Amino acid sequence: MLFLMSRSGKAAGTGTVSSTQLTSQYYNLSDVQRSQTALDENITEQFAPLSPEVIRAANYLTSTLLDPLTKKLGSKLEIDSWHRVPATNTAVGGSVTSFHLTGGTVDIDFFKDGVLDNRMIVAAIIKYDYPYTEMIVYGDLNNPSEVHVAAIEGRPEKELLHKNSSGDYIPIDEQTLFQNYYDQGVRV
Ligand SMILES: [Zn+2]
Repeated sequence: MLFLMSRSGKAAGTGTVSSTQLTSQYYNLSDVQRSQTALDENITEQFAPLSPEVIRAANYLTSTLLDPLTKKLGSKLEIDSWHRVPATNTAVGGSVTSFHLTGGTVDIDFFKDGVLDNRMIVAAIIKYDYPYTEMIVYGDLNNPSEVHVAAIEGRPEKELLHKNSSGDYIPIDEQTLFQNYYDQGVRV
């Protein structure tokens, strides 16, 4: 029994993943729950206490990807959307299967010296081999408006997609995109 209890909360190779509190060095519960849409539309459940499952998923995301990425880039990322309750997800037009519903996905922006440069996010995630499930690059591929990244425990598929101006999701090769950014002078 003690043996079993000591193993609970462990994820293989990632150390302890807490399900009771957010363990991130950089981000807090208000980051996880942030939603301008929920504020605008008075979706109060968006800001209700989070379930242990959502906190655990958020901790997996921060411990495997978001915290190491933040440390590499040298400053906090701007969080646009992280966990969404179903009403918020519907209000923003999210997919019914969106990983945002789990807490294991975040939409982020990175500003270098005050200038938006989301290529840095994508390049660092590829270079340092963070175990993401899916990454979606929004807007102009050479000047992305936003990056959506999911890290779901046990699902390191690394599906990299570009959502183009027609609304289609186009698969992108990691090394081709990394080389493209490198040629543009992006260094991470
Ligand atoms: Zn997203």
